[in-house]
Amino acid sequence: MARIVMKFGGTSMAGTERIRGVAARVKREVDAGNQVAVVVSAMAGETDRLVGFCREASPLADPREYDVVVAAGEQITAGLLAIALQAAGLPARSWLGWQLPIHSSSAHSVARIEGIDTDAVMAAMAKGEVAVVPGFQGVSDDGRITTLGRGGSDTSAVALAAALKADRCDIYTDVDGVYTTDPRIVPRARKLARITYEEMLELASVGAKVLQTRSVELAMKEKVRVQVLSSFSDAPGTMLVDEDEDGNTIMERELIAGVAYDRNEAKVTLVGVPDRPGVVAAIFGPLADANINVDMIVQNIAKAERTTDVTFTVPRTQLPRSLDVLDKAKDSIGFIQVLSDDAVAKISVVGVGMRSHAGVAVTMFRALADRGINIQAITTSEIKVSVIIAEEYVELAVRVLHTAYGLDAPAEVVA
Ligand code: ASP
Ligand code: MG
Repeated sequence: MARIVMKFGGTSMAGTERIRGVAARVKREVDAGNQVAVVVSAMAGETDRLVGFCREASPLADPREYDVVVAAGEQITAGLLAIALQAAGLPARSWLGWQLPIHSSSAHSVARIEGIDTDAVMAAMAKGEVAVVPGFQGVSDDGRITTLGRGGSDTSAVALAAALKADRCDIYTDVDGVYTTDPRIVPRARKLARITYEEMLELASVGAKVLQTRSVELAMKEKVRVQVLSSFSDAPGTMLVDEDEDGNTIMERELIAGVAYDRNEAKVTLVGVPDRPGVVAAIFGPLADANINVDMIVQNIAKAERTTDVTFTVPRTQLPRSLDVLDKAKDSIGFIQVLSDDAVAKISVVGVGMRSHAGVAVTMFRALADRGINIQAITTSEIKVSVIIAEEYVELAVRVLHTAYGLDAPAEVVA
């Protein structure tokens, strides 16, 4: 017997028919002798709809009441799944966030889980009852409903699995695992049987949105065995593993786990910045004060006239605000001109193999150069290399890199 947490995303919960399909999957695990807790998302599109109502009611909606509204989508699917499980002959009940309870901070709409009381739910599970828990919600110390930020039900599932000391946390979604890149761009992308937590974190942070980033951080910290699977097929999924635990398997794999892209950044260049101590702080201080997250930074070597150019990227949606902040700080920074470009994209290659192999980045630079794709900025971490290129080359770049790192599936296994 194992204790497992199963999590179903919005597409899996969209409508009675699919909820019945979920109940059937849960029944299989129960029939196999396992204790099961299920964490559910709202039906696909529902949370957006609820957010829309709040905005309509007031653009400055009280965040505490916003949480009351947007948490409702998961309350509905939790109840419906409990009903469907009972109809399938299984004892089941829903446990809302305040009933367990799932304690969270009081940062409404972006709350963090602080602890989950599991005594009551464990006792129910031990008697063979399936526990259905709405994702995305918690309760603050002063007893008010909170939500965990968009995509937060992945984090609910991992936190519940950690609290229950579950043997596994199976995340059922509309893709059947983690791929070496986006299969819509590269039909020969391969599904990874295993990926390390760290690789998954880096991929999630550069646009491969299979799991909420925070859920991966939590799984890594709490050593929760997370598996990503499809709700709609029985294909084997992708298991998140520890690098140490899995060193051998990973070493036999390609150096790179995956190639990701992200169209959500924009590039800003300050031309003619005086080359003196403190100037970089003068640029990024006001941006940080405005809560603008700067990602890549490139500073050129000063020219004879002792000025330099500084290039960096900001989230694309925050470009207008960034330009406004920089304009206001123009005198204290002392630049001549600001240039911006939002038709850029970030391409990243990620893999723990980089730690022990030289030349991984060079393969990337050469492959892009061979296709005449210009690199506008570069950043690296221990297990990631990212470059900024013109957006029009995204798909070409992803395909070229996927091939360059030997990630293409053999032709005969392509469906
Ligand atoms: N329903 C919430 C959202 O759409 C939480 C989730 O599905 O993970 O963001
Ligand atoms: Mg999700």
